[in-house]
Amino acid sequence: MQLTFLGAAGEVTGSCYLVDTGEIRFLIDCGMFQGGGEADRRNRSFAFDPRDIAFVLLSHAHIDHSGLLPRLVALGFDGAIYATRATADLLQVMLPDSAHLQEREAEHAEAGHSGRNRGAPPLYTVEHAVASLARLRPVEYDESVRLAPSVRCVFRDAGHILGSAILEIWLTAAGGNETKLVFSGDLGQPGRPIVRDPAPIAEADVLLVESTYGDRNHKSLAATLDEFAAALNETLATGKGNVVIPAFAVGRTQEILYFIAELASQGRIGSFAVYVDSPMALAATRVTLEHPEVLDRDAATLTKWLVSGKGKPRVHFTETLEDSMKINSIRSGAVIISASGMCEGGRIRHHLRYNLSRPECAIVFVGFQAEGTLGRRIVDGAATVRFFGEEHPVRAKVYTIGGLSAHADREALLGWLGGFRRPPRATWVVHGEPLAAHSLRDAIEERFGWRAAVPAPRQRASLASAG
Ligand code: ZN
Repeated sequence: MQLTFLGAAGEVTGSCYLVDTGEIRFLIDCGMFQGGGEADRRNRSFAFDPRDIAFVLLSHAHIDHSGLLPRLVALGFDGAIYATRATADLLQVMLPDSAHLQEREAEHAEAGHSGRNRGAPPLYTVEHAVASLARLRPVEYDESVRLAPSVRCVFRDAGHILGSAILEIWLTAAGGNETKLVFSGDLGQPGRPIVRDPAPIAEADVLLVESTYGDRNHKSLAATLDEFAAALNETLATGKGNVVIPAFAVGRTQEILYFIAELASQGRIGSFAVYVDSPMALAATRVTLEHPEVLDRDAATLTKWLVSGKGKPRVHFTETLEDSMKINSIRSGAVIISASGMCEGGRIRHHLRYNLSRPECAIVFVGFQAEGTLGRRIVDGAATVRFFGEEHPVRAKVYTIGGLSAHADREALLGWLGGFRRPPRATWVVHGEPLAAHSLRDAIEERFGWRAAVPAPRQRASLASAG
């Protein structure tokens, strides 16, 4: 039995692991690599034949975990895709949206406006996305699902975004020996609104744990909210500029709205208009409200506020391109939340075009910015950035608020690992850039005395007990 690390090994995007039991092969996640032309090239070449894959287990809906499912189906995969019910609902919106982006990117490349290869066809089309949705098999949290005679799985709540899961997978080898493989998925920070805390897991033979923030801790929630309120007030109180927040449409946007509602109810922020400019964010917010069973208690506050339509500040969801373009003429007093979260595509680039070069505006980053992305270049302090075929000077104030991230910080990751009752035979630290991943690995060895390693891309590891 073998495991191959096909993505999110020494980096945060492209989450994908191939399990080969000797009898069947299946994937855990089928995520997209993000961050420029090299990522595009990697997205086009699977290291396996999609027709050989029996099924896919999907941890959650984020595109860096799910975004290549349509391509997998386009290239001949015809098995089932197992995901929680909420994840399946989110994908109905996200995969077609991602396909639209791919089609538009291909048109731009055709016209020479993009860094991508001229003439490269889209990664996949809306048709492929729709075909992949037909392969979804929704499962419930905590339900034991038999996937094959030798494979069983349970999805546990990962507390990262709606529907996100930790996977517990039991594999039976030909001789009857059982190996338990646990994949943390993306783990949420405990004690945050809307989603629940990550479920504790007691045992694993082989463990894959994410390490996005493996080298740092977030500020406390109170300090994070102070920071967020200051970022909003410093810019909006002058009456001269806007605040632009690049945010994953799913998860981040709903939580940011929740925090804005909370700060407003405490009288800590002035009056302004909030524009959520992403059709997907609106759809994702609807899906969020439709799944009260997986939400924690705090989400009720957000629900009430959004549904009433007269909360303060007023929230405008824009769906049409026309409404989106109207926001471009707003010079001040607006908080604009738009996707994609790493500024790699979508409407956020238009809002950056109108606000990034104005010193009276602010860009507030609330999620992790992967290496190679436009968001990362801005966060790293680039004086100018290139997009839409032009150079744009960065004159707006740039804030990075790590505490608003959907990812557990270092102590929370170690806290979750502390729930294991015996050391896993092997612990693989994945889904982190090299510094973060190695830092978490060192901490695991130091604190728990476990054997831990950071895999190299495409590295293979044995899942058998001798390994
Ligand atoms: Zn995620």
